[in-house]
Amino acid sequence: MKLGIIGGTGFYHLFEHMVEKNIRTEYGDVTVFHATTEGKDVYFLPRHGKHHDTLAPFVNYRANMLALKELGVTRILSVSAVGAINPEIKVGSLSLLDQFVDLTTRVKTYGKYSVDLTEPFCPELQEVFVQAAKAINEPLRPKTTLVCVEGPRYETKAEVQLFSKLGMDVIGMTNATEAALARELGMCYSVVTLATNMAPGLTEHPLSLKAHREVVERKRETVKSLMLEAIKLVEERKRCTCHEAYERAMIAKP
Ligand SMILES: [Zn+2]
Repeated sequence: MKLGIIGGTGFYHLFEHMVEKNIRTEYGDVTVFHATTEGKDVYFLPRHGKHHDTLAPFVNYRANMLALKELGVTRILSVSAVGAINPEIKVGSLSLLDQFVDLTTRVKTYGKYSVDLTEPFCPELQEVFVQAAKAINEPLRPKTTLVCVEGPRYETKAEVQLFSKLGMDVIGMTNATEAALARELGMCYSVVTLATNMAPGLTEHPLSLKAHREVVERKRETVKSLMLEAIKLVEERKRCTCHEAYERAMIAKP
């Protein structure tokens, strides 16, 4: 099977030997890194570009997701750094996304048809992450709701208070966009987040890139083990319906 891995800030290297490939799509070029492991073709896509310098609002999401689709990828495992809103979520802990509220205004559609996002993440891949976390003995908070904001700026205290009142657990800038596009393309998609800071206003500590990097550094091997375990466990889709709207739309095409 062909599997996509999307890594965010700080998560760039899964395997020692990965072959760089440039994929040309109608939305732009995308760099991915290919390796074969566990009998699977794994395509690693650094979300923020090869040089890790493209900020969230400027990521070419449509090109990224279409590149994976054109490579034949059917399922995508993703990892992202987020800010924690729910005080139960400690800095350095992992959470499994289950729902999101999308406040971004960027283009997040190929404009061909409407998809059902009642359940925005693939239930089978969510289960893969649960089992992978158990296998490496790392706590993984279930049922986590993300509020997705435009960025690149961080949030005001009032915004965080509002999100907190609305029951949001974590705040990020990328996953809602990827989830919507993955669904449009009929690919399964699931995300584990690493809380690298408490959202602004919830802590005495000012936001610091240094502190963020330290958390990523500290958890890098854990995240890598989780992803490698998940790659081992993932199978072809069985009962999930992530691909159905896409296939129906393709059939409906004249
Ligand atoms: Zn699925």
